[in-house]
Amino acid sequence: MSPTPLAYFGGEFIPANEAKVGIMTHALHYGTAVFEGIRCNWNEEEEKLFIFRPLDHFKRLAEGASILRMKLPHTPEELVRLTVELVERSGYREDMYIRPLAYKSALRVANLKLHELDDDLTIIGVPFGSYIDVPVVRCMTASWRRIDETMMPPRVKLSAGYVNSILAKTDAVLAGFDEAIFLNNDGKVAEGSGENLFVVKDGALVTPPLTANILPGITRSCVMQMAKDELGIETVERPIGRAELYLADEVFLTGTAAHVTPMGELDHRLIGDGKGGPITKSIQDLYFKAIRGALPKYRDWCVEVIPAPLAKV
Ligand code: PMP
Repeated sequence: MSPTPLAYFGGEFIPANEAKVGIMTHALHYGTAVFEGIRCNWNEEEEKLFIFRPLDHFKRLAEGASILRMKLPHTPEELVRLTVELVERSGYREDMYIRPLAYKSALRVANLKLHELDDDLTIIGVPFGSYIDVPVVRCMTASWRRIDETMMPPRVKLSAGYVNSILAKTDAVLAGFDEAIFLNNDGKVAEGSGENLFVVKDGALVTPPLTANILPGITRSCVMQMAKDELGIETVERPIGRAELYLADEVFLTGTAAHVTPMGELDHRLIGDGKGGPITKSIQDLYFKAIRGALPKYRDWCVEVIPAPLAKV
């Protein structure tokens, strides 16, 4: 029997389906919350789970919390320790997704002053397989623009901001595509609904800069480091025009959930031969090994956990 998903909630570990909030919760009405998505990868040979770069995720969570004027009850280091305990207690022996959420928990429906609202934090761990279920994605340029920093910060994972991603992703999927690509308010390429984006042209690797209204992705930083250290390719961060994607040799998306995924097509135009290219493949291979602790050089990106033989609550 599969273990029950657990949540760290109210200072204890309980079955996630017993962790409840009230209908008046501020975050439910206004999206006043910040979250993270962390992968925890099962390594069958070692019989261990590897939580991938949790400290970096919790540091980004803390940045979002500070923008929302929240007082997180734990430091990022303590949150890593709580996550290890959650994973250990859960007892899964398969890939997991960890969802920390810091939210305005005050039961106040008509108050727009962050400094008057209490907050709370939960961490949920669920089994999780692939996020994108095709090897090569077909994409559409979104008619929605990426949220601009002058409206709401896109560099942290604010819950309200994800309505932007959800509108774009939904439209793309209903139009028969796998993923949406956002342009920013300047009309330059920003990112996917839940992924950063890289372009390969004549052996060079290019990605939009952090000022393009993108999320500073943790996978993005892994890719930049491994491309440099393992393939000798330095990534150039610069504004990218839409047509550069049509004319690229390769384009790929990166994200915790999406891993490294080649883009085969954008707006009905094939990218390269439409099947993904060799540089994408090399980076993808390295990344898949790194996230399961299989590359000794990058093992410190992972926090190892031996799951409890039986789930204990
Ligand atoms: N951009 C957006 C909008 C995202 O939601 C994500 C997923 N967190 C990413 C990029 C990739 O970030 P990361 O590699 O840290 O998961």
